[in-house]
Amino acid sequence: MAARKQSLYRPRGLIDVLDLPLIGRLLKARRGRLVLQIPLLLIAALLLIDGFTGPQSAARNLATITPWVHYRGLVVLVLLLAGNLFCMGCPFMLPRTLAKRLSLRGRRFPRALRNKWVAIAGLFFIFLLYEWLDLWASPWLTAWVIIGYFAASFVLEAVFTESAFCKYVCPLGTFNFVYSTASPTQISVKDPQICQSCVGKECVNGSYTPEPVIRVDQIAGGQTKEVRHGPEGTLGCGTLLFAPQIKSNLECTLCLDCVRACPHDNIGLMVRSPGRELLQPEAWPQRWDVSFLVILLVAMGLTNAFGMVPPVYALQQWLADTFGLNSELLILLIIFALTGVLLPVSITLLAGTLSRRLTRTGHKYSLRATIAAFAPAFVPVGLGIWIAHYTFHLLIGFWTIVPVFQEFLGLQGDWVRFNAAPNMDLISAVQLVGLIGGLLWSLMIAQRAAMRLYRRDAVPGLLPWALTLIGVVLLAVWIFGLPMEMRGSTLFS
Ligand code: SF4
Ligand code: SF4
Repeated sequence: MAARKQSLYRPRGLIDVLDLPLIGRLLKARRGRLVLQIPLLLIAALLLIDGFTGPQSAARNLATITPWVHYRGLVVLVLLLAGNLFCMGCPFMLPRTLAKRLSLRGRRFPRALRNKWVAIAGLFFIFLLYEWLDLWASPWLTAWVIIGYFAASFVLEAVFTESAFCKYVCPLGTFNFVYSTASPTQISVKDPQICQSCVGKECVNGSYTPEPVIRVDQIAGGQTKEVRHGPEGTLGCGTLLFAPQIKSNLECTLCLDCVRACPHDNIGLMVRSPGRELLQPEAWPQRWDVSFLVILLVAMGLTNAFGMVPPVYALQQWLADTFGLNSELLILLIIFALTGVLLPVSITLLAGTLSRRLTRTGHKYSLRATIAAFAPAFVPVGLGIWIAHYTFHLLIGFWTIVPVFQEFLGLQGDWVRFNAAPNMDLISAVQLVGLIGGLLWSLMIAQRAAMRLYRRDAVPGLLPWALTLIGVVLLAVWIFGLPMEMRGSTLFS
């Protein structure tokens, strides 16, 4: 029984990142997270200064270059290659930590909102605002978005006990949660037996108390263990994950608070096969909100890229002429609602219905369960689309940060040296690898889900999903094959 549990919960990887010399010690240290947070906080401060006082030109201001070119490009690569390091180093968590301590007696987030619908709406509106207000082109507005983020995280953490901002609201965190399910690392307990005899469950309850408390716990094997709580202790898991039951990265901010709070040193950051949980039905809740979050993020990826290619302008003009619309916001809202929500929701419901009909399993699996079984297959294809999009901007504008920073310091920006024409063949190759790699990975996950659900009828059960995934990638190849606005580069601005 114990062996079965171990294989279910613990990633099969043998390497615990926290056991590595230096880096492991650093990450586990009480203030280890500050090593990432303080530089990112300083960067946020620089962005605010340049955003409010620097040149209001997208390609010449840190406030636009850094988040819209570098942050986005690096975040998708880091999620794929390492894990949710940007949530780990998130500077918005610093005021949040103070707010959370103030809210120890606060309330839980309203039950009706304890799901991903708010986060889905947040993602939708941030992509819409990004396009409508040309956020990428406005250092001043981007600076206000950063301030809004600090304020929202502080207020929500002060009012509610759990990390409501990270878990239910933050669009950036939600994006990271979804694609960290493809990452090669995961929080996991080392020995589930120890958790069974653990008294305080500090990983979720925390070891922080205003006054020092010493407890002596009975542990496995009849031994005792002195456990200390106090003002130096750690708050428990902000997103209320219970370490022995973690099967997914979906709501893990990689804060490592559970590691620091566990009195038995029983939690590791295990290396696993990338996206391992995408093949494990136990790791994914059969919830509409989670399934649609994953699927709509793929659609929003396409819509976001579509907003930068010529056909979108023709479509905007057509909508304006045909329906007599003269509000750009309304026109964009229609395009985003159609392509980012209505169409993908309809196609998903259709694929789920066809899958059940073709395999005659309607009595066995509900539509919700069917869609939930195939939803994880949309993670790699979505990640591939975001990689194709964001690395495009990153590779084009990567070195422009140097002259922009030189100008921020009042020096002469060396634009000649650091603004060379990009190698478009290399960029196209990276995009193609992202899209095709994502598709193949997704098809493999969908095929496994079909085998698990339908066995001998796996082929007809897979067909609607495979066609959907292939259609998504063909659409992406078409979009990325069109001339795209090269935002954040003086070469083209
Ligand atoms: S992970 Fe640590 S704190 Fe949590 S239940 Fe297991 S032993 Fe206890
Ligand atoms: S405390 Fe929660 S969110 Fe933080 S690393 Fe542990 S499981 Fe993840």
